[in-house]
Amino acid sequence: MKYINKKLTIERVSVQNIANKYGTPTYCYSYKKLNNNINNFKKSFRSFAPLICFAVKSNTNVDLIREIKKFGLGADVVSIGELMMALKAGISPKKIVFSGVGKTSNEISYAIDKKILLINAESKSEIIEIHRIAKLKKKGVQIGIRLNPNTDAKTLSQISTGKKENKFGVNEKTFFELINYCKNSNYLELKCLSVHIGSQILDHKPYEKMLNVIDRIIKKTNYQFEFIDLGGGMGISYNDNDKKLDYKKYNLAIKKFLKNHKSKIIFEPGRSIVGNTGTLISKIIYIKKSERKNFIILDAAMNDLLRPALYGTTHKMLPSIKTNKKSKKVYEFVGPICESTDKFTTLKNFQELKEKDLVAMCDVGAYGMSLSSNYNVRPKPVELLIKGSKIKIIRKRQKHKDLM
Ligand SMILES: *Cc1c(COP(=O)(O)O)cnc(C)c1O
Repeated sequence: MKYINKKLTIERVSVQNIANKYGTPTYCYSYKKLNNNINNFKKSFRSFAPLICFAVKSNTNVDLIREIKKFGLGADVVSIGELMMALKAGISPKKIVFSGVGKTSNEISYAIDKKILLINAESKSEIIEIHRIAKLKKKGVQIGIRLNPNTDAKTLSQISTGKKENKFGVNEKTFFELINYCKNSNYLELKCLSVHIGSQILDHKPYEKMLNVIDRIIKKTNYQFEFIDLGGGMGISYNDNDKKLDYKKYNLAIKKFLKNHKSKIIFEPGRSIVGNTGTLISKIIYIKKSERKNFIILDAAMNDLLRPALYGTTHKMLPSIKTNKKSKKVYEFVGPICESTDKFTTLKNFQELKEKDLVAMCDVGAYGMSLSSNYNVRPKPVELLIKGSKIKIIRKRQKHKDLM
């Protein structure tokens, strides 16, 4: 995203042209950024060549997943729908891992039939259910057990998953018990220990702690895991002053860990692959003046981009055309939905705006469209993939008649 002749552009197309042609609100993804993200990720960990399973829940667009697949990535899925989507995008079942605390019998059965790489189980009840279904089918099934390492990821509490009060994974004691359960089963092939401590992690230290916990526990079990699945969670900078995750230090910590364990590493990154690729373009419907601030009422709302309402986070806001005139008023950017949480950000010293102007919200590629809804019977935005000066529609804008 940069300004060329004062016009905000994504790769080689201006936000203005996109809005003129496709309307607003509109999600756009930059192919170049996707390409950079994946290559940087691979490069950061190339010495041990991990299997990288894209966390489909961060962006479920089938065309985008197809592009990601072309880089050799697999998929991490958390529902039968996501599993179907990953398969539809052409990802080999041998590169798919299935996480989640509440897999139904139907989901487990489907995953076994598709012969995916791993079902990462999260409770004793689930292990028993997988065993029951596998036995019924007389089929072996490769599984992982998700350990709750009781490690604080130092991120937002809503997206922290690795502490003992979180619902995810099993504790150490249950972990040992489940290894024995698998040893006694003719159908369960225990291949993997998995963890995932949270999302938007910007400090490498929680990862180091997590590795220390796994190291200690594996040594206790004396069990040879073919795979160690370290989950995802690598954070991105949403704001200029966000710190950056130090991939070098994380990489070093894993290399140290691998000296004692001969396992293949799996990652499940979502946000770090697609987060900064996405932009949401929106038009100002009205500007409502009040004593203290002006409300900039956009045609995008919390149903299109839920993160600010759900987590209280903000996305960088940019005007589509740069002028050098600053507003004296505080601007509160809101959507038209009847909820007070339907607001995106409040900014001082923003460029002076007028009605019908366009703005762009940055870094919405992860948990943007995938968390969108039809609240207020609002059709979902169109999604575009931008590659140089080419624009491809990768999901049509919903129409009201689709919702009736
Ligand atoms: C959400 C999730 C991920 C992806 O997290 P990011 O922060 O997007 O990298 C990976 N693994 C599991 C089990 C998840 O639930």
